[in-house]
Amino acid sequence: MPCRIVLLGGPGAGKGTQARRLARSQGWPHVSTGDIFRAHVESRTELGTRIAPYMNSGQLLPDELACEIVAGRLSEPDCADGYILDGFPRSLPQAMGLDALLEARGERIDFAVNIKVPDDEIVQRLTERRICPECGKIYNLRLRPPVEAGICDDDGVALVQREDDNEETARDRLRVYHVTTEPVVKFFEIRGLLRSVDGSGKPPDDVTKKIEEIIRARNGG
Ligand code: AMP
Repeated sequence: MPCRIVLLGGPGAGKGTQARRLARSQGWPHVSTGDIFRAHVESRTELGTRIAPYMNSGQLLPDELACEIVAGRLSEPDCADGYILDGFPRSLPQAMGLDALLEARGERIDFAVNIKVPDDEIVQRLTERRICPECGKIYNLRLRPPVEAGICDDDGVALVQREDDNEETARDRLRVYHVTTEPVVKFFEIRGLLRSVDGSGKPPDDVTKKIEEIIRARNGG
């Protein structure tokens, strides 16, 4: 049964980690607008050069651009049977844009999962986050360190820190989250599509289990 899920939560709440795990266990594509935009910045495409200053300072890109990128990605064949949206929608205009896009295709979001983590924990998690540039695996220096310091467990590549994961930008991103993105939680709540999980101080496995329970409940089992 096709399943279209939105993962909500502040920066560093664990959306990327959970989306990667669900993509693996459920076989649905992981659609992360942040990953798509970062790939443009890293390959220095024309779009990448234009958006890098926004991303490095923790500001959101224009809504029309985010909607356009998502519309293109969701029309690829691998998204026909569902997907996990991570990092989109991030504003009310984006949520409405997604609604309109899906309505035109006769589709709908099944539910949105909000991963709740307090602000202080978020800033700590973001500054301690390291990523494998090769496979995208996400580590935390304190809570989920690699076996060998600074090296990805899976492919032996040196881990990197995202440019926007410094404390100052982390706080800016959190502010943007509260002002612009938090209303999206309400948007899904009003439609009866919101599910919440506590992501604070929990190992990622516990959060994954909770989300899988929500998926099972939706599938009637
Ligand atoms: P993320 O990897 O989801 O934390 O996103 C990293 C950065 O990409 C954000 O701080 C924004 O600059 C940009 N970005 C990602 N998704 C969106 C979106 N839906 N709307 C606007 N900007 C976005």
